[in-house]
Amino acid sequence: MTETPAPAYIRWTEEDGIVVLTLDEPGKSVNTMNEAFGLALAEVLQRLDEQKDSLRGVVITSAKSTFFAGGDLNELLAVDDAAAFFAHITELKALLRRLETLGVPVVAAINGTALGGGLELALSCHRRIVVDDPKIALGQPEVQLGLLPGGGGIVRLVRMLGLQKALTEVLLQGRNIAPRKALELGIVDELVGSPDQLLDAAKAWIATGPEPVQPFDRKGYKIPGGTPSTPALAMMLPAFPATLVKQLKGAPYPAPRAIMAAAVEGAQVDVDTAHRIESRYFTELVTGQIAKNMITGLFFDMQRIKSGGSRPQGPERWRATRVAVIGAGMMGAGIAYAFARKGVDVVLKDVSLEAAERGKSYSQKLLDKAVSRGRITEAQRDETLARITPTDDYAAIAGCDLMVEAVFEDPSLKTSVYAEAEPLLAGDALLASNTSTLPITGLAGGVTRPEDFIGLHFFSPVDKMQLVEIIVGEKTSDAALARAFDVVQQIGKVPIVVNDSRGFFTSRDIGMMVHEGLAMLGEGVDPMTLERAATQAGFPVGVLQLVDELTLTLNKRISDTTRAELAAEGRDPGPAPGDAVLAAMVETGRVGRSTGAGFYDYPEGGGRVIWTGLAELFPPAAGQIPVRDIQERLLFAMSLEAVRCLDEGVLRTVADGNVGSILGIGFPPWTGGALQYVDGYEGADGSRGVAGYVARADELAAAYGARFTPPDSLRELAAAGGRLAAAHA
Ligand code: NAD
Repeated sequence: MTETPAPAYIRWTEEDGIVVLTLDEPGKSVNTMNEAFGLALAEVLQRLDEQKDSLRGVVITSAKSTFFAGGDLNELLAVDDAAAFFAHITELKALLRRLETLGVPVVAAINGTALGGGLELALSCHRRIVVDDPKIALGQPEVQLGLLPGGGGIVRLVRMLGLQKALTEVLLQGRNIAPRKALELGIVDELVGSPDQLLDAAKAWIATGPEPVQPFDRKGYKIPGGTPSTPALAMMLPAFPATLVKQLKGAPYPAPRAIMAAAVEGAQVDVDTAHRIESRYFTELVTGQIAKNMITGLFFDMQRIKSGGSRPQGPERWRATRVAVIGAGMMGAGIAYAFARKGVDVVLKDVSLEAAERGKSYSQKLLDKAVSRGRITEAQRDETLARITPTDDYAAIAGCDLMVEAVFEDPSLKTSVYAEAEPLLAGDALLASNTSTLPITGLAGGVTRPEDFIGLHFFSPVDKMQLVEIIVGEKTSDAALARAFDVVQQIGKVPIVVNDSRGFFTSRDIGMMVHEGLAMLGEGVDPMTLERAATQAGFPVGVLQLVDELTLTLNKRISDTTRAELAAEGRDPGPAPGDAVLAAMVETGRVGRSTGAGFYDYPEGGGRVIWTGLAELFPPAAGQIPVRDIQERLLFAMSLEAVRCLDEGVLRTVADGNVGSILGIGFPPWTGGALQYVDGYEGADGSRGVAGYVARADELAAAYGARFTPPDSLRELAAAGGRLAAAHA
């Protein structure tokens, strides 16, 4: 056996005419597709080329726990020169092409996760052997960050699987695929039981003397299912973009469109041309603003939060063992489920045993469904259910180390609950309220240990919503915040941390969007246009649908209370923009979906249709405002409020604002979040950044009201050419 010094990134070992290339990026925990990789691969290819006549095969594997991590997102974020980027990826792809046309069989021995560029490297080999471990993920997740697999992933997958399968099963969803499923789909060729069997399996295949040619480079090769000019496929193709538009509701996501275009166009030309097409679309996405937004908000900000960026550093990690959930209504029932599912014992307390049991039955329903879908076993269901103890007796909460209170939104009721519960809990139990609006500092007056009191604001429905907004009261200690942060992560949810204020961040921010939407209805914007404009901007539902779900009375009550409280502090802001519409609707008695009538009618058979009476109550204006104005009024209402929250210290970091707005209140993911929307704003003149945002806010203020006037802080930032993310780093 000979081992010679090779480029540090790729180790070269040779035995019996088989070269094993071990990827081991120096000083990194994962292998990435950066410049060092390109250089190392080029050198290795040169050497392989020189020696190929004496070689029987090449095996590529990794010294890390993962196979290969793919592109470096920091580098992609910084790309602004399209021509240079295109040249760079063309070079890299040429190397991968050389690998597959070397004339020697090349095997990817996949010992760990291979996503994105990692899978693309493996696809450039003639055979893929993977360890059969369900924790290993394969796939092309690029679409989720507004990108596409630009290392040949589209070209090769389309040619291996056919257009339809490549698009629907791998490229457009961007899901992680476990090894068995990957084998079933035809992305990999063979599974082995453990990592130490990989090399033998690779050698055994090489020993069969396989032809070192990709299927699509063989004579007579045809794309499975045909090309777009094959009549059967040609008939189906128009359905693809139609389905996409339906799924995206017309929201501006360029990545899936680019993926589809690159796949379809590439299927009609030779391999090299297909690669060029893929590279062009890739360059367009990478230099575009939407990928940069998504990488910032959905990757870097999310990572910052998940790695504890908003958690005080000192305190040790903490785990709750037994939680008292007080109030078994809609939220309490969901919260109990969230804890039980993650192995935490729950005492679920309500005023009657019947109410508590009803709360528990919510978990039963969700778990039964999971059993019927084959996601968990009956034994797992029963075990989870057994963790929830419904009760009407406070004594049952004795010794719990966490309380989550979720009774009616009534401060005096909540205070009386604390008085009964606190003495029974463990002496140092973390005390939390799920209030959505009541200031935490005020509620903390109801306990003897205000330093251990905190807001844990879950979102409805709790089992689906990933976000929990942690609210820090005036007296809340760092230790309590750290524990709250840990407990949110313990149950697999994403915590953002905000300071106490009326409506905290999320409720306050979404309130602005609701009122702006209602104001537009009052001004005579056609209701259907209003709804579609919102979903086409990327909001999950229209404003009127949202208010119907939340109920109009709740919205009115929050609006009225806020105004009354502000007035009591001597700063009556006057009516909120949508107040008149809310009042007029509540007057008609149509208060939302739960009562079967709101802005919409809810016919017996299901579905919803705009209530015809709306046209009389709020007559459509003769001249309708532009759709872009409707969309930007909603986006600016929320993003301006997020900036104010940052200025006031309600938001402590930009990452919390971005992640919280996307996960909690439906701010469109293509923006990267409510604050990244400001930083990455694309003006009508093609400019990007805060200055264009401020200019547009001024325009909106002139046309629709002073509430759009940007805060001075933003003007100063714009003048300095700065960004919120940098200013608040
Ligand atoms: P809900 O009306 O569905 O449930 C409240 C439950 O509390 C009822 O089952 C009631 O019987 C019980 N309860 C009342 N007094 C009690 C007592 N003394 N001891 C034990 N239980 C008692 O309300 P909900 O929607 O679950 O909201 C609960 C809390 O969560 C509120 O503070 C609300 O603001 C907040 N919240 C609600 C949402 C939402 O979308 N509904 C979202 C986030 C936060």
